[in-house]
Amino acid sequence: MCCIFCDIKNHIVPVNFLFENENFFVINDANPQTNGHCLIISKNHYEDIHDLPDFLGKELICIIKDQSNRLISEGLADGIKIIQNNGVSAGQTVKHFHVHIIPYLDTH
Ligand code: 5GP
Ligand code: ZN
Repeated sequence: MCCIFCDIKNHIVPVNFLFENENFFVINDANPQTNGHCLIISKNHYEDIHDLPDFLGKELICIIKDQSNRLISEGLADGIKIIQNNGVSAGQTVKHFHVHIIPYLDTH
């Protein structure tokens, strides 16, 4: 199975990796909802959360926390929204598992 995230993982499309390990990588979203909006993407082509092996869950939570802390330490966030879409009806446009990390700052 090949898709845009597989192409990015395989460096066919050059993109800056913010983080990478055996199972996941992190890149900035091409169409950010806020400054710093990034995506945690599985290295394997799992279509959605139903396809993601359970054993990766703990590691994924750790990466979500690490990336959230990075955005806070960079001054881009004091609040973090985590979104993970599954299926076209739920807004999934790329059928390769990913989690959105969207930073928010209180401007008041
Ligand atoms: P979804 O709607 O599937 O949950 O989110 C897919 C996300 O991937 C969108 O926010 C979109 O902007 C992002 N995206 C799609 N293609 C690319 C790409 O080629 N590079 C990057 N960095 N992000 C992409
Ligand atoms: Zn893929």
